[in-house]
Amino acid sequence: MKFTVLSLFPEILQAYFESSIMAKAIERGIVDVELVNIRDFAADRHRTCDDAPYGGGPGMVMKAEPLAAALDSVVSEVVNTGGRRTVFPTPSGRLFTQQVAQRLAVEEHLVLICGRYEGIDQRIIDLYVDEELSIGDYVLSSGEIASLAIIDAVYRLVDGVIRGESLIEESHSAGLLEYPHYTRPEVFRGLKVPDVLLSGHHAEIERWRAERMREKTMAVRPDLLAESERTSD
Ligand code: SAM
Repeated sequence: MKFTVLSLFPEILQAYFESSIMAKAIERGIVDVELVNIRDFAADRHRTCDDAPYGGGPGMVMKAEPLAAALDSVVSEVVNTGGRRTVFPTPSGRLFTQQVAQRLAVEEHLVLICGRYEGIDQRIIDLYVDEELSIGDYVLSSGEIASLAIIDAVYRLVDGVIRGESLIEESHSAGLLEYPHYTRPEVFRGLKVPDVLLSGHHAEIERWRAERMREKTMAVRPDLLAESERTSD
């Protein structure tokens, strides 16, 4: 799977792609990444990428021309299999969820546009964007962190990136939040690992984990529990 990220500050993204599981996925050829500096596509001497909004109001808007030129340079490449989707992360988009991540993980090529200031010229959305996605009901100062959140949730679902069984019982995969985890030592600052986890009794462990999942979901996200019960009817 390929990720292309268009940004005015691609250096913010660089370290992420050079570290940990993502770096390994790139090294193994499962993931490919391309960072595009939008400013390289600005035509004027000052490489201007923003301007005042028509109709007045606070802040600046990212100009259409450099973004369009950057997007044209990306989408002129041929995609051999699967599809390409262009995503604009924005607080006014549809909510990005695990289900959306699962849907995007089968695409061949994801193109993400990082907004800044008040956002981007609407005509870029009209002409190029397949999907506007919000990572939550709050406003970040720019789209780089939102793009990384989307990429991170998506690429780990791509075949071969991490072990499949790690994904099955995760929070949000089966509609419930995950059970608690423990590792060595058995006692830490007076707190002991629950006996059942030391018992070696797999059916008991599974039952204990299912109970904890329900309990946690009930306590912090009762909306998810109601939804999971509705869809299992
Ligand atoms: N004026 C915009 C609004 O009220 O919806 C907010 C712009 S925000 C300051 C700048 C950029 O950060 C956005 O264009 C978007 O790319 C990104 N951004 C901020 N919050 C986000 C969120 N919750 N989800 C996805 N992207 C976000």
